[in-house]
Amino acid sequence: MFAQIILAKAPPKLNKIFHYEIPEELKAILSIGHQVLVPFGNSKRVGYVVGFSQISEVEKTKPILQIISKDPVFTSQGLKLVKWMSEYYQCFFMSAFRALLPPSIKKKEGRKRFAVDGRDGRDAINRVPTGEVTFCAPISTTHQQNALNQILPSLDQQNGDRFLLHGIAGSGKTEVYLKVVEEAIARNKGAIILVPEIGLTSQIVKRFKERFGSLISELHSGLKDKEYFEEWRKISTGESKIVLGTRVALFAPVKNLKVLILDEEQEPAYKQEQNPRYDARKAAEYMSEKFGVVAIFGSAAPSVETYYKAKTGKIKLVELHFEPRPSYIEIVDMKNEKRKLLSPLLRQAIKETLEKNEKIILFINRRGFFTFQTCRKCGNTVKCPNCATSLTYHFKDNKLICSYCGFTAGINIICPNCQSTSLAFLGSGTQRIEEEVGEIFHKAKIIRIDKDSVTKKGSHEKLFAAFTHGEANVLIGTQMVTKGLDLAEVTLVGVVSADSMLYIPDFRSSERTFQQLTQVAGRAGRHNLPGRVIIQTLNPDHYAIKYAAACDYKSFYEEEIQIRESLSYPPFASLINIIIQGKEEEKIIKISSDIKTFLEKRLTLSADCKILGPAKATIEKIRGNFRWQILLKGKNIATLQTAVKESLVKIIIPVDMRVSVDVDPVNML
Ligand code: ADP
Ligand code: ZN
Ligand code: ZN
Repeated sequence: MFAQIILAKAPPKLNKIFHYEIPEELKAILSIGHQVLVPFGNSKRVGYVVGFSQISEVEKTKPILQIISKDPVFTSQGLKLVKWMSEYYQCFFMSAFRALLPPSIKKKEGRKRFAVDGRDGRDAINRVPTGEVTFCAPISTTHQQNALNQILPSLDQQNGDRFLLHGIAGSGKTEVYLKVVEEAIARNKGAIILVPEIGLTSQIVKRFKERFGSLISELHSGLKDKEYFEEWRKISTGESKIVLGTRVALFAPVKNLKVLILDEEQEPAYKQEQNPRYDARKAAEYMSEKFGVVAIFGSAAPSVETYYKAKTGKIKLVELHFEPRPSYIEIVDMKNEKRKLLSPLLRQAIKETLEKNEKIILFINRRGFFTFQTCRKCGNTVKCPNCATSLTYHFKDNKLICSYCGFTAGINIICPNCQSTSLAFLGSGTQRIEEEVGEIFHKAKIIRIDKDSVTKKGSHEKLFAAFTHGEANVLIGTQMVTKGLDLAEVTLVGVVSADSMLYIPDFRSSERTFQQLTQVAGRAGRHNLPGRVIIQTLNPDHYAIKYAAACDYKSFYEEEIQIRESLSYPPFASLINIIIQGKEEEKIIKISSDIKTFLEKRLTLSADCKILGPAKATIEKIRGNFRWQILLKGKNIATLQTAVKESLVKIIIPVDMRVSVDVDPVNML
């Protein structure tokens, strides 16, 4: 019997499996996932056990010197997961493999010496709970019981079922997750619960901890290396059977994993924006198919792609019915408001709320870099005739450019939609709102939360705390304020402009608008006091805004899915985005067109298979690097993947340039 080892910190040509002999004293303990020290040439190297075989590829094998990590740091399932990731998302196996390792384990690779016995210096404290564990859970409502009746039988089946748990905020989804996990524990199975971000959603962490105590481990990038490793160790020994964390928690070495929950499954944070560019939703599907894991996607406003799967029977739709509280969502048409950011209705509402000593959240979606030409009269942005997404104004060229197909146009003088001359460049920052509120309302104590005010780690928690403890009564902020904040005294939520999201050049912009408005609206009146939501917009009749205000997901979905179908966007086609970056724009244009030419020859182009671009990306430059992109669209993802892979083997990329492949992209700016 030989151990198959891959080396840490190896140059690309040594990125393969090596065979080593297993010394007698290690035979009983060595397993997949152990970090080990091995002789290599004249030196010693750190490696990882990835398998065992009866035969060795070489005649003379050397023995493993010692085990470094007392417990295995990954499982064979984890190994399969990253293997699949590297193939599907087209990155080197090693870069996917690194995702399996906790930071402190990676750091050890650089060390020269290790403790002689190969132990971590501490024995596992034996806290593995035995016998009956009782949990303090409320009795499920009829609707929750109904949902559980659909989900729980899957825990006893071999194959992994998939569910979409659809229910508005407050409908009791978290309580359903808790019950499912409880049942898994009763069967001695493990569970992973993913949340998009941990800081802002600490509400869910709190509830899981209250229910499961020390059976639970938390995993996210906010932990110190040591803490992270300690959690990892507890998971690996089976001390904790439940893992709650951000997408990295997918790789946790959970024993007998049976349940995988993704809360707020519509969130873009589930997609990693660097190699491996995996999507936790896709990974969850893979794990359910291959490992028999029961996957539960939960959301108040599911992604269109997930809901489509539910409608077409690929996953099971479980609706959590809930009597919504009377809704006080009002839409204000801003077309006649001239230059003012706050409408008379919103001003009046702010005044009344402050007088009652209650709190206010003002939400704005300002993403610094983009400007669009927008009509103040009809509310439309100037759009690409081919892609139906907003054209971005590129200041340097003084042109409007489509970031999907490269369509370019000069600045419009009259609105293509209503022929008025009221075109403007849209954009208003949180700072201007702060000024406007401050000027009118002297009682307002304002806290502003945006990317500028929360550069330091943990500083948004501090700002939130100040708001919670009454040091401020108005919170103004970007996306960040829409998540998780659950405050009794917030009785007014104002959306300063629902349009800025709508104009983002992304085919998912309507979906994102609907989701964000749903989330924002969920922040008001969650407790005893009635809440009021005021949405300001130039597009009061847009379906995303209209249906978000009416809390009507289904009607929104019906309109959106038709548009996706008519334009062949996901879920009706798959996308691969190729991003080409470098310091010299001419070189990028040259390489981009080489890639395109190759792909044109390689793929059979048709209405069902298209190559868009090369085009300047919406964010045309990052840290001095120009960015262009080529977007592939096709019914068959495997065909696209193969073609892209071949193109990157055939076309030589200069060393000062970088080409990244993004399969099933989520962020295409
Ligand atoms: P969601 O996750 O869909 O927003 P939650 O599970 O957080 O909904 O439930 C909303 C509120 O109702 C929470 O305060 C929760 O504690 C409470 N709750 C949920 N289910 C029950 C139940 N069966 N009995 C009593 N309270 C419940
Ligand atoms: Zn117009
Ligand atoms: Zn276009």
